[in-house]
Amino acid sequence: MTTHDRRAFLALVLGALGGRAAGQAQRGAGASPAPPRFEGQLASTARHLRAAADDWGRAVHRMPAAVLRPRTVGDVVRAVAYARERGLKVAMRGQGHCVSGQAQAAGGLVIDSSPLNHGAWHGTRALDAQAGALWRDVASRALTARRALPVLTDALVLSVGGTLSAGGTGDTSYRAGAQVDHVLELDVVTGTGALETCSPDRNRELFEMALGGMGQCGLIVRARLRLVEAPHSVELRRLAYADLGRLLADQVALCDAPIATLEGQITPEEGGRWSLSLLVGAVTRGDAGGARPGWLSGLGFAGEDAPASARFWDHIDRRTKRLWASRLEPRPHPSLAMVLPEPAAAGLLADIMSSASDRAGIWRIEVFPMVRERFVAPLHRLPEGPLSFTVRLQREASAEGAPDHHAMLESNRRLAARMRAAGGKVYPPFAPEQSPEDWREHYGPDLWARLAAAKARFDPDGLLTPGPGVFGGSRT
Ligand SMILES: Cc1cc2nc3c(=O)[nH]c(=O)nc-3n(C[C@H](O)[C@H](O)[C@H](O)COP(=O)(O)OP(=O)(O)OC[C@H]3O[C@@H](n4cnc5c(N)ncnc54)[C@H](O)[C@@H]3O)c2cc1C
Repeated sequence: MTTHDRRAFLALVLGALGGRAAGQAQRGAGASPAPPRFEGQLASTARHLRAAADDWGRAVHRMPAAVLRPRTVGDVVRAVAYARERGLKVAMRGQGHCVSGQAQAAGGLVIDSSPLNHGAWHGTRALDAQAGALWRDVASRALTARRALPVLTDALVLSVGGTLSAGGTGDTSYRAGAQVDHVLELDVVTGTGALETCSPDRNRELFEMALGGMGQCGLIVRARLRLVEAPHSVELRRLAYADLGRLLADQVALCDAPIATLEGQITPEEGGRWSLSLLVGAVTRGDAGGARPGWLSGLGFAGEDAPASARFWDHIDRRTKRLWASRLEPRPHPSLAMVLPEPAAAGLLADIMSSASDRAGIWRIEVFPMVRERFVAPLHRLPEGPLSFTVRLQREASAEGAPDHHAMLESNRRLAARMRAAGGKVYPPFAPEQSPEDWREHYGPDLWARLAAAKARFDPDGLLTPGPGVFGGSRT
């Protein structure tokens, strides 16, 4: 960082602080600390600030004062310590794939984790990954030793730190829980600017409050990830359904079947109809066309495609190209992900599918079962009851601020309220803006008290991650 950059940072920070706080900071700056020397880049051009004030949802825009592209973990430590001294808010941003400003910090400092993307083996059964690494890169490295992550997100171009701050679920979650359930150790920079290592055996409270904690108690800078043996290939079957109830019932029936992946897909068709299908993968050694598997018997599908064998990598990487392409389009994606208690899932889904206003802009609904006892991390919230369903409404609007965009946001708010009333939980990065009351309800009284105590301990000045609005304030 050049002297010019540091002066620019100070000017930005003082400008952002304004008024009395700026006066205090100026006095402080005169008395001692110069702005930190970063090894990475402090970007302050309008282009960088605008990018950090945007996300996949394109509905919320909060301009930061500066964006740091750290080169080292030390940069993150220095940035948080300095921000604390100056009373600045700090948010870490992975790939910005959240939808309601969760990774933004108005007038504050956004730390772009993407340059922190190194990885290293820890023995043969675990990988260390820095927070900004993409799951695609981690999975690819693991596969060089025929290892795999137990749970991968459907889109691999999400950051390790971003999904570990939320939960991280995908087509193996029905049997393996969430990504946060397979973390062995973390390095976290807390709101006091301390770099701490934590695990189930060491500093456990920080560990549990960082995983799925939406960056409230600390910024994850490294995760040690458990690996399992990778399949050679996956034999995929697409089963077609005529009935939503059967589609859901068969997902439940398959939760204990000898299969490898499971995802329901509901796709709009011409004339207001929907195509319902179940994509089921079973591990093979690349020799598709063997005997018909026993787990197919007793299911209620109406038709099936011929099974297709895919190399494991091609299967997990299947959505990358489409996602890269859609990143180039400046369209808003007012998507919504929620976890519904099993008894409420069919009714709510049927209502969404039959309502012209709620089905607007949906290009696919993804549905998969969650067996509660297979999920461990406390802050990754699931509804009460042994079984629930993740339901993701993938939406795209025509343009930011267009009438269809507003209508989809309104539909999401309506559906989130209805889901809460039914005992469901939002998936925080893929949810409408929540009030502190919504968050209290999300966690429930005991967990809320625990998170609030951890916040007071690890981020006593309330600097970290204002975007989700967990502890109220102005989200700045
Ligand atoms: C196309 C698409 C597909 C998706 N598929 C899945 C899926 O299969 N499974 C799934 O679980 N989710 C999925 N998501 C949902 C969700 O948006 C992401 O899980 C989440 O936002 C992570 O993405 P990100 O790395 O871009 O993090 P961001 O969106 O940048 O950040 C998410 C939140 O975490 C905070 N944060 C980021 N990094 C850190 C860190 N290192 N330490 C502390 N806090 C941090 C941010 O401040 C923000 O509050 C998908 C999203 C999209 C757009």
